[in-house]
Amino acid sequence: MIFSQVKQAPADPILGLTDAFKADTRAHKVNLGVGIYKDEAGQTPVLSSVKKAEAKLLEIEKSKNYLGIEGVQAYNQVVQTLLFGENSDIVKQQRAVTAQAPGGTGSLRVAAEFLMSNTNSKTIWVSNPTWANHQNIFETAGLTVKQYQYYVAETHDMDFDAMITDLNQAEEGDIVLLHGCCHNPTGIDLNIEQWKTVAQLCLDKSLLPLFDFAYQGFGAGIEEDAQGLRAVADIVPELIVANSFSKNFGLYNERIGAVTLVAEDAQSALTSFSQVKKTIRSSYSNPPAHGGLIVSTILADAELRAEWEGELTEMRQRIAQMRTLFVETLKSEGVEQDFSFISRQNGMFSFSGLTKEQVNRLRDEFAIYIVGSGRISVAGLTKDNVPVVCKAIAQVL
Ligand code: PMP
Repeated sequence: MIFSQVKQAPADPILGLTDAFKADTRAHKVNLGVGIYKDEAGQTPVLSSVKKAEAKLLEIEKSKNYLGIEGVQAYNQVVQTLLFGENSDIVKQQRAVTAQAPGGTGSLRVAAEFLMSNTNSKTIWVSNPTWANHQNIFETAGLTVKQYQYYVAETHDMDFDAMITDLNQAEEGDIVLLHGCCHNPTGIDLNIEQWKTVAQLCLDKSLLPLFDFAYQGFGAGIEEDAQGLRAVADIVPELIVANSFSKNFGLYNERIGAVTLVAEDAQSALTSFSQVKKTIRSSYSNPPAHGGLIVSTILADAELRAEWEGELTEMRQRIAQMRTLFVETLKSEGVEQDFSFISRQNGMFSFSGLTKEQVNRLRDEFAIYIVGSGRISVAGLTKDNVPVVCKAIAQVL
């Protein structure tokens, strides 16, 4: 038998946790594993701006004809504006080309396969730690994955000098994966000077930055969160961005993202884009339309855009409030250990410093689900579950 040769794959560390959570019959269970935004009621509702755009689309849509390989053109334009700003020279000079792709994951995979097949860039450096799926995606595409130091457990902070030391080992043409904002899992981002230093290093050593930009608007704001990317793009001639609207538009199951390539000039961008399209054609031919149409409809309509920005601000602010409440509640539960670093981190996640044993106890004894690395999805905390979670943490520490 052919299939009898197939070995069982290990469960995905994050999605496997969701399966275990679903199977747990304890009523008071709390899932702080997967990165999904929950509102104060613990729900993940469709954004109101999205609902309105969908109603509009339902009315005007006349055909389900295929999109081009690169997807919805109006969408690709708004992606570039979100990434590089309203008056970007890169966009004006047509140095950027964008293809709509299925989520951040699909975008990263397209980028990796494009690089693997068409360039001498076959090694990618990712932060230690990084999002668990990065290694998977890049190795499946055939790239060699190396790590650069990023985080120090003892200080709950980043070690920028160590990052630079490691990246100095990279060789010409190597790819450097950078989290545009809201680093997953640590929540610790580079400041603008550090971004410039990394960009200069990439320029000096001819390294290619690949931005994973999955959380624009979840850190400080839509424009603010793009400052690192824009600073790097000002310094290096070439880079790639894989962005996602899963989180900031709440479009998780629509699988909507984009891969954007910035080249040194318009001709080089176009030539590269022909190969990006070839990569897509052999993979899924062309992207599903709905997510791209939702995003482009919202961003083209001043009223819908303002509503979306309001909804995004609400999500960002609620997460920030939960960070503060979490730190305060741990204190009031008598926890002496300093957790104040949690309120300094950005985005959906917090690297709590909880050990694997403590994470296991939280799951087994308290039905609280956290990723084994100690990463907590702060976006899953609510005023209702914070006391329960903090009480439990106080007991396992
Ligand atoms: N990159 C990072 C850093 C992420 O956290 C995620 C989502 N967890 C993704 C990419 C993938 O996003 P998507 O769900 O749009 O594929």
